[in-house]
Amino acid sequence: MPRYGYVSVTFKEESYNRLRELYRRDDHRLSFPEWITHTITEYLEQAVGILQFLTIVGDEVYLKNRTTDRIVVLLIKDKELWCTECKRNDCLHVGFCLANKQVVRRMLECQEQILEKV
Ligand SMILES: [Zn+2]
Repeated sequence: MPRYGYVSVTFKEESYNRLRELYRRDDHRLSFPEWITHTITEYLEQAVGILQFLTIVGDEVYLKNRTTDRIVVLLIKDKELWCTECKRNDCLHVGFCLANKQVVRRMLECQEQILEKV
């Protein structure tokens, strides 16, 4: 249970370990929670200026990169987002989408559909 005025965020252990390693290598004076809050906020604020959410069709999420004027497609796959451009599940595009309520809602719907089939 987080302290009053705070919220908890859950990461996959693998992602958490990668963030810890990046924190260790970074030259900083911040605590890990301060560093991660600052880094993620800055990262997503940059992404919001560059990326534009377009639509969701089935299990595909469409973004537009305003800088390159290209469409980026992400797949909702096994409870995760997979970026077809970066071939990763932890790129800027995925982080941008995870901050979008429509995408998260659709991911939950896809997960429910999988559970109904079991
Ligand atoms: Zn990507």
